[in-house]
Amino acid sequence: MAITPLMPVYPRSPVRPVRGEGVYLYGEKGEKYLDFASGIAVNLLGHGHPHLTKAIQDQAATLIHVSNLYGSPQGEAFAKRLVDLTFADTVFLTNSGAEAVECSIKTARRYHHHHGRPEKHELITFTSAFHGRTLGTISATNQEKLRDGFAPLLPGFTVVEFDNLSAVEAAMGPHTAGFLVEPIQGEGGIRPASPEFIKGLRRLADENDLMLVFDEVQCGYARTGRLFAYEHYGVEPDIMAAAKGIGGGFPLGACLATEKAAAGMVIGTHGSTYGGNPLACAAGEAVLDVVANEKFLEHVRRMSDRLRGALEQMIPNHDHLFESVRGVGLLLGIKMKSDSRAFVNYLREHGLLTVAAGDNVVRVLPPLVIEEQHIGEFVEKLSEAARHYQVPQAA
Ligand code: PLP
Repeated sequence: MAITPLMPVYPRSPVRPVRGEGVYLYGEKGEKYLDFASGIAVNLLGHGHPHLTKAIQDQAATLIHVSNLYGSPQGEAFAKRLVDLTFADTVFLTNSGAEAVECSIKTARRYHHHHGRPEKHELITFTSAFHGRTLGTISATNQEKLRDGFAPLLPGFTVVEFDNLSAVEAAMGPHTAGFLVEPIQGEGGIRPASPEFIKGLRRLADENDLMLVFDEVQCGYARTGRLFAYEHYGVEPDIMAAAKGIGGGFPLGACLATEKAAAGMVIGTHGSTYGGNPLACAAGEAVLDVVANEKFLEHVRRMSDRLRGALEQMIPNHDHLFESVRGVGLLLGIKMKSDSRAFVNYLREHGLLTVAAGDNVVRVLPPLVIEEQHIGEFVEKLSEAARHYQVPQAA
């Protein structure tokens, strides 16, 4: 049999981590990596954080899972904290980002159904977006590499150019239910939307009674130095998907909505066996204990200034390789002049973990608990790698 027991859908690198400690990962043979990938913006407390570990251990010993058919003191407490910290009035807990986006799409459609406008079922979405790998979330993109071979996809999405408000206005019609957008695109190459664009979407949603849905799965949860990226724009969504950092590595996600937006999400309209079980909520609470305060967010902003400053200083020394630094907080991207994947592989071979993104960007996504010494180590290793790296010649 040629197929591997683990379905071979990932181009898995030779890194085989078996242990983590703070901002470091250790491989099977004891190799040490500085982890500035954080499981793709997930391990925001690094690895083995004592508060998160203890919360999970204690809860595992008390009660791991019960059905959502029963009352959920753990889910109620966690959802109440999210409601208090955000624009939202209500939360549906999921196990992943794609599920949080699915719930967001359903909530937006059901809003219009509830108000007797079932024809308003189409979300306007954007080029280079990434919303997950379910049939619904791949239907919300126009990226062929995600969609190839999975037709027929879900109708009800119109993809227009990211950050182009006129394109949105031109695409709006009688079927439009709202807009689904990452305020800062992650997989697409760390591209922040302009404030005019995000404010424009809010205005169009308000004028036409449409749903503004933010996908903050990657850009949310303290990564930008605010709890959610929408706070930078001074614009609140009606519905928002969160995940990744929310459980600090424990599988957890959330669809947050205002009371108005969730009007259609009544008993029986949605569900999940695991979503928001006691163990997941304990992880979620422990993460909030650490990140949901101004002191921590200030730390993220300070580390961001240091890291960004150091990267910007380094770039002119290697201007044959690097073009610019972009992003917000510790959601940073280095735009390269050549294939970023090849460079990410090279860094990995030299003990540095980063993540490639679209548009030849190297994503720099450290745990939010990094300290200055880690930034120093990162920039030193990156400069050293840049000095020796030979751009592969096209075949
Ligand atoms: N939305 C965005 C913006 C993402 O970056 C991702 C994952 O990278 C997802 C949704 C899907 O999340 P998950 O892989 O947890 O399903």
